[in-house]
Amino acid sequence: MEASQRSIYNPALETALFFANQLKKPLLVYFGLTDKYKYSNSRYYSFMIDGILKTKKSLEGRGIKLVILKADPPDGAIELSKRASLLVLDRGYLRHQRHWRRKIAEQVSIPVIEVEGDVVAPVEAVSNKAEPYARTIRPKILSKLFDFLEEIPQLEPVKSSFMLDIENTWEEERAQDYLNALSIDKSVPPVQYYESGEDVALTKLKLFIEERLPIYAEMRSDPGVKATSELSPYIRFGQISPVFIVKKVLEHYPYDDPNVKIFINELVIWRELARNYAWYNPLYNEYEGLPSWARETLEKHLPDKRPAIYELSQLEEGNTDDPYWNSAQRELLTKGTIHNYIRMYWCKKLIEWTPHPKIAFDIACYLNDKYALDGRDPNGYAGISWCFGAFDRPFPEREIYGRVRKMSSASLLSKPNFKRYLQQFGKTTSQALKGI
Ligand SMILES: Cc1cc2nc3c(=O)[nH]c(=O)nc-3n(C[C@H](O)[C@H](O)[C@H](O)COP(=O)(O)OP(=O)(O)OC[C@H]3O[C@@H](n4cnc5c(N)ncnc54)[C@H](O)[C@@H]3O)c2cc1C
Repeated sequence: MEASQRSIYNPALETALFFANQLKKPLLVYFGLTDKYKYSNSRYYSFMIDGILKTKKSLEGRGIKLVILKADPPDGAIELSKRASLLVLDRGYLRHQRHWRRKIAEQVSIPVIEVEGDVVAPVEAVSNKAEPYARTIRPKILSKLFDFLEEIPQLEPVKSSFMLDIENTWEEERAQDYLNALSIDKSVPPVQYYESGEDVALTKLKLFIEERLPIYAEMRSDPGVKATSELSPYIRFGQISPVFIVKKVLEHYPYDDPNVKIFINELVIWRELARNYAWYNPLYNEYEGLPSWARETLEKHLPDKRPAIYELSQLEEGNTDDPYWNSAQRELLTKGTIHNYIRMYWCKKLIEWTPHPKIAFDIACYLNDKYALDGRDPNGYAGISWCFGAFDRPFPEREIYGRVRKMSSASLLSKPNFKRYLQQFGKTTSQALKGI
């Protein structure tokens, strides 16, 4: 268990259980905890460990043992597989996740099955190439959508795995005990705003369906209103299944409800376009991975005068002369996510404040991956790439941005409740409120 960190609606888990029952063997779930992961920090690890401990408990209720070993994820799996008949893996799309799975497949001597359970439509069933636009992948996904909304039967184990003599590296119940034992970056603190766990994800989904989805189409782009699901950290860690989310939404509203259509466009089309990008573009998290027209137009404008050049430390502290940008950075530092609308502004603005768009791109990835609880995810790399022209069309030429779409603070100020956002995250609110 690596990408789908949950006990409910988990196709890899249910597949493993199906085969364990067929073979009349116990099912052991393994989670490898390594502190060598890039951006291993307290924020990210406390969320992950809190979540996995809840999943462990929930699996125990079904007679399934989950072991947490201090090991590189593939190494622990390879070691445990020496005592197993079959190995079932979940699927990840990033470079290191694919490397982990390849290493396992190459080194174990038992059959290995990989199950793709964190998208609605499997990436390779949708397309065999990098899709350039949402509009090109949309019909391909939507034509298959209902094929993949099948119910997943939840089986009971024929044989419990509790008696297996495989001990956890730790038996602690609290994430803090794990954090203390791991050599990770303690300077990025956990966030209070998002309590981890599949139970919390379910509660948030219920709240979203009942209270926020009805205003999603109208209000989702206003950072001052809570109109979105705020599920991204839970989806990121696989604590909730996107298929489950779509099914629950469709239990409450018809498919052609405009709010549902726009929500599915984000959760399924844009999210799965990001997975397509990570899968088929080897440079998915690099400036060089952008379409050539975007790089060329940005570089043509390298001589254009920049309004300011900021050091990384000034950006990281949210200490620029732009109060709106600082608010977004403060939201990232304190809450661990940025509202999607201002996240676009936050990222694009870096193009103006750095001598080269490649530097801007790398800073955006660095800040997003280090502080965003939903970061280190294909969505982050695709979202950042979009800000630099990927998946978008060329716009009329302008300074610095060339033909890449620019976003001005006027678009933020046009949102009726933006003031409320600034009151929440703006330190120098009076400065930020100027012009409203
Ligand atoms: C510069 C930039 C960086 C981003 N970095 C990340 C990131 O690191 N991780 C991340 O999950 N999203 C990222 N996004 C996309 C988007 O900002 C977040 O998914 C969204 O804000 C999460 O809030 P929510 O859960 O309330 O979304 P909702 O509107 O409720 O949407 C539900 C789910 O759909 C998916 N989703 C929504 N919008 C998008 C989108 N534009 N692209 C892909 N998937 C989407 C997310 O999984 C989200 O949780 C980024 C966008 C930009 C412009």
